[in-house]
Amino acid sequence: MNIARLPSYLEGVWRTGSGEGTPVADAVTGETVTRVTSEGLDLAAAVAYARRTGLAGLGELTFPQRAAAIKAAALALQERRQELYELSARAGATQRDAVVDVDGGIGTALVYASLGRKGLPEHTLIVEDDPVALGKGGTFAGRHILTTPHGICLQINAFNFPVWGMLEKLAPALLAGLPTIVKPATPTAYIAAHAVRLIVESGALPPGAVQLVSGSVPGLLDLLGGQDHIGFTGSAATADRLRSDPAVTRRSARFNAEADSLNCSVLGPDAVPGRPEFELFADALVTEMTVKAGQKCTAIRRAFVPAGLIDAVCEAVQARLAKVVVGAPGADGVTMGALVGLAQRAEVRGAAGRLAAAGSIVYGDPRKVEVVGADAERGAFLSPLLVRVDDVARPEPHQVEAFGPVSTLMPYGDVSDLLDLVARGAGSLAGSVVSYDRDFVRQVVLGAAAHHGRILVLDRDSAAESTGHGIPMPQLVHGGPGRAGGGQEEGGLRAVYAHLQRTALQGGPATLDSIIR
Ligand code: NAP
Repeated sequence: MNIARLPSYLEGVWRTGSGEGTPVADAVTGETVTRVTSEGLDLAAAVAYARRTGLAGLGELTFPQRAAAIKAAALALQERRQELYELSARAGATQRDAVVDVDGGIGTALVYASLGRKGLPEHTLIVEDDPVALGKGGTFAGRHILTTPHGICLQINAFNFPVWGMLEKLAPALLAGLPTIVKPATPTAYIAAHAVRLIVESGALPPGAVQLVSGSVPGLLDLLGGQDHIGFTGSAATADRLRSDPAVTRRSARFNAEADSLNCSVLGPDAVPGRPEFELFADALVTEMTVKAGQKCTAIRRAFVPAGLIDAVCEAVQARLAKVVVGAPGADGVTMGALVGLAQRAEVRGAAGRLAAAGSIVYGDPRKVEVVGADAERGAFLSPLLVRVDDVARPEPHQVEAFGPVSTLMPYGDVSDLLDLVARGAGSLAGSVVSYDRDFVRQVVLGAAAHHGRILVLDRDSAAESTGHGIPMPQLVHGGPGRAGGGQEEGGLRAVYAHLQRTALQGGPATLDSIIR
């Protein structure tokens, strides 16, 4: 059967690359969904079009006008989100998973639209501060302005959040006035491409504001430099490669990386069985293991529990995992879908095997899983796997990311031991502390904050409203130090400022006023 190649949206036109392309299989049935290729497409022309047409179109809009355009685009997506859910199911996502990606992305764009409308001036530049006197006579002062660089934004995304990953980068870039070229990951590029199609059809954005490359981007970084922004999400290995590209090292393109991380969750010693926090911890761990089949950069990979509680926690988590029904998204009773593809499953099995070598698998079988509504071998299904490692000095649980429904349970002694273990993750996106003991929480948060982009404190009082360990909120920073990539995204308007050039102006106060009026 001749499966169509996935088009790219370049210079205002849908264009199809040549060649065979990379086949992308349905995660559930194994059938080929599409072929992804950018061969023969003129990416240099796309960059030139963004610089010329996209930049000019956005430059004519004030911040609130850009916010209104983002809102219109987000509402157009919302209107037709069912189409995105249906495509997401082909990538193994249940309805719950698709909501995290699709509605999460739309919600993020809407938050940015609101922040841009309420928090940014009716202007194309931002004056950051009041004049600072630089001379005794009052004739010489300084202040900072933020303006749009004369560049573009290239976003390179991971496969797991094709919609959210795109929108959380797109909204702040567009607010800042930067036209964007989206390069989605190949395994889910067809979902991102459809989202771009819906945005384009809405007519909400000015021409050139968004383009899409389906496939690889050879030579594109050679065209980027100091006025451009590269936003990357994906593995640490790809982040390293991009970070060392001359576009970044020689020409100083702004580069932000969101990479993988071995996020931890900590159970407090007060949270013994019968206390609400014990249940909250076990529930959260199972949620993090099973939403998106564990393919979440923020998922709990390392669960630290007091040594005296590890058997009880193990039993509680096993009991919950036993209720997870793996199968085709939409099939009766299914609570966890498939991994994105067979290659990903092979990779996760390998990583789980390395983790298991440090301890033992106490729930699930990496080779076998009962599946509802699909064939367990043709689809990329995997059982949730709980690994227990008692020898916490082993390097594997602190170094190996199994990007699937896999977590490692480990015991700790006192707070100081715990903080050493937390630090062995070498920098994480998200951590959580589940405890009702404020002294314990304080010690852990203050000791662990330097290793984390975000820390959730979970207890009986906040649980009902808590958004959970794994969900980044657009108002708050997403990103983490060290292994997590060292970048920061979101964080409300911080992400918009990060795309703008800050310039210190010096001169007479009246002259400065006349420039920024
Ligand atoms: P990946 O293999 O590193 O790919 C990420 C993106 O980089 C894809 O779009 C990929 O395109 C592209 N890419 C690869 N080589 C490139 C090159 N030489 N030049 C330009 N682009 C290139 O990661 P993944 O497998 O998609 O995602 C899984 C990883 O992402 C996990 O480790 C996870 O922890 C991490 N992640 C992090 C976050 C976060 O916010 N920190 C979020 C989600 C995922 P192709 O697909 O076309 O090769």
